[in-house]
Amino acid sequence: MAYDPWCQNGLIERIRALEWSWHQRPFPADPLSVARYGWRKISGETDMIECSSCKARLYLPWPSHHILPSPEEEDLKRNFERSVAEKYFKRLSEDGHGDESCPWRLKPSPRSLLCTQPLTKQEILANTEVRSVDISKSFPGLRVEISHDLELVLDALRRHSETSLNESCRIAAFLGWTSAKDRSLECVEGCKRKLILETCDFDPLEKHHWYCPIVFNDPTKPDSVSSWRERLRQLI
Ligand SMILES: [Zn+2]
Ligand SMILES: [Zn+2]
Repeated sequence: MAYDPWCQNGLIERIRALEWSWHQRPFPADPLSVARYGWRKISGETDMIECSSCKARLYLPWPSHHILPSPEEEDLKRNFERSVAEKYFKRLSEDGHGDESCPWRLKPSPRSLLCTQPLTKQEILANTEVRSVDISKSFPGLRVEISHDLELVLDALRRHSETSLNESCRIAAFLGWTSAKDRSLECVEGCKRKLILETCDFDPLEKHHWYCPIVFNDPTKPDSVSSWRERLRQLI
């Protein structure tokens, strides 16, 4: 695999592969930090990763619970995990790469890559419209619980166009979902998650993966705003 720090799909793929076994590891050894530096999980291995450019391999086992302090000592546990995470981060961002000139070491993928393509107001509305129609054909009874935030989305959409379509379908469409050919709902723009719905109830925010560019909120930046909120601002 070539060096491709600006490829959003590549970053998402690397996070997705790590997510299952690494999701409990804290920043800066979390799946996003690891993936940013070009590491990909080796298939069949829990703790082994490989740099997609220099092919260096790192074995980073997470401390098992019996050597961690007891759960009552939460602060101690957190500090201990943080110190392991920092030690690991040094390896994956610096000397873990086999070669000092490994491009991932010099320039990793930016965290800001986890956001959606900027769209104009017209493009946002047109995408929402097309996807709403598709979703309402496959899932005419879709039900989304309308929180305060989602009420704002509905208000904004109503202001731009009235429609007889199910409003839950419009919200799901605005939040990046569309109906796939096999009658599942799919996040087309972001995490590519595909869901077969077993009931009509659907949570269009929760169902994205946390690293989905539509909902991702950078915890290292207090003023970070997810892409869907940015889009909502554009419509208001
Ligand atoms: Zn490397
Ligand atoms: Zn998604």
